[in-house]
Amino acid sequence: MENYWNKEIECMSREDMKKLQDERLVQQVKHVYENVPYYRDLMDKKGVKPEDIRSTDDLYKLPFLSKADLRDAYPYGLLAKPLSECVRIQSTSGTTGKRVVAFYTQNDIDIWEDCCARAIVAAGGTNEDVCQVCYGYGLFTGGPGLNGGSHKVGCLTLPMSSGNTERQIQFMLDLGSTILCCTPSYAAYIGETLHDMGYTTDDIKLKAGIFGAEPWTEEMRRSIERSLGIKAYDIYGLTETSGPGVSFECSEQTGMHINEDHFIPEIIDPETGEVLPEGAVGELVFTSITKEAFPLLRYRTRDLCRLSREKCSCGRTLIKMTKPMGRSDDMLIIRGVNVFPSQIETVLIDQGYTPNYLIEVDRVNNTDTLDISVEMKPGQIPEQTADHEKALAAAIKTMLGISPKVHLVSPKSITRSEGKAVRVIDRRKLHD
Ligand code: ADP
Ligand code: ZN
Repeated sequence: MENYWNKEIECMSREDMKKLQDERLVQQVKHVYENVPYYRDLMDKKGVKPEDIRSTDDLYKLPFLSKADLRDAYPYGLLAKPLSECVRIQSTSGTTGKRVVAFYTQNDIDIWEDCCARAIVAAGGTNEDVCQVCYGYGLFTGGPGLNGGSHKVGCLTLPMSSGNTERQIQFMLDLGSTILCCTPSYAAYIGETLHDMGYTTDDIKLKAGIFGAEPWTEEMRRSIERSLGIKAYDIYGLTETSGPGVSFECSEQTGMHINEDHFIPEIIDPETGEVLPEGAVGELVFTSITKEAFPLLRYRTRDLCRLSREKCSCGRTLIKMTKPMGRSDDMLIIRGVNVFPSQIETVLIDQGYTPNYLIEVDRVNNTDTLDISVEMKPGQIPEQTADHEKALAAAIKTMLGISPKVHLVSPKSITRSEGKAVRVIDRRKLHD
């Protein structure tokens, strides 16, 4: 049986949802035009007035907002409420450059936590659960978002933050945590440590994990599910749209339902900005229709995915997005070929290796080089290393179309991640 946090909204008919979005969008555009000179200028330049936006059908008329705009307007340029009405600041992790800051009114926080509560309930969470939150707390949105959602659901909340992995496991054992929230790379590390400490999945009570904040493959999901004996659910979000909880997975595990009563998604061609039809892969763009303090309209996330309105077995009618395959700027172009780290991860786990790897790209004598370090499997005989490396390089070549150099390194020699994993070092950027 499937549980909902807010059935009325999560299972609302398409017509009713569109009506709600239409009303909220019209209000929001007015709010932004009146209170955010930066965006008003963009609208004026495009010749769009708030009166031109009468429903979601007019969304395409609005100008885009990009991360560069956020940096331009840093720190207060996109603020739509007086600071006296704001109660919180959060910030991006700075994965791809200078941090941006986001502001929240109390109402913004309530809505954000509500979205996270929907995710926890969709993963089977109730007030009987013990929810261990090991996303980072602080400026990063992961910890505060899931913490708030867990409170709303009424779970007994363990605000662990990330790090100190043996202590995480001790608490998990002592307090019988049933839900784990962290990045997928940290979940993999926690699973590994559990077994290293001599425990098995029989010793813990975990049943579900809510993992997000970084790209992860289906292969990684199955590997975490095995190692922790749980069902692993994806959750997506970004600081610019509040944080985690923009979308979340249900029991079907075939993409994440977007909280459409708060965020209108679009998929665009990242080159031309043209809106693409449902089902096409492109850059995800969000318009937040309820945020008060930091309401971004048509914000370009740079995340690449696909949207689908196919009926979901869970009963939710909220549109679904596929797992982002990575950001458009995570994509490596190596010897002219587009490479996503997730493709390499798929092959590694498929071939029985652990999800601990490092991709290094460089340019030597005008040719791109691709080096992948992976930890040896337990039981692999060092004398056969060269053969194993060759076999793995061949499998990766089949996936990518280009040959990497594979280095099998000793187990546990690659640094584990407690937050967002850094899996790529591109040295070409340093020479440019
Ligand atoms: P930063 O851009 O500094 O990492 P955030 O902490 O706000 O800042 O991270 C948001 C980004 O994290 C998203 O734009 C997306 O690229 C990535 N992300 C978040 N959740 C997921 C997820 N479930 N799957 C893949 N990527 C995700
Ligand atoms: Zn569903």
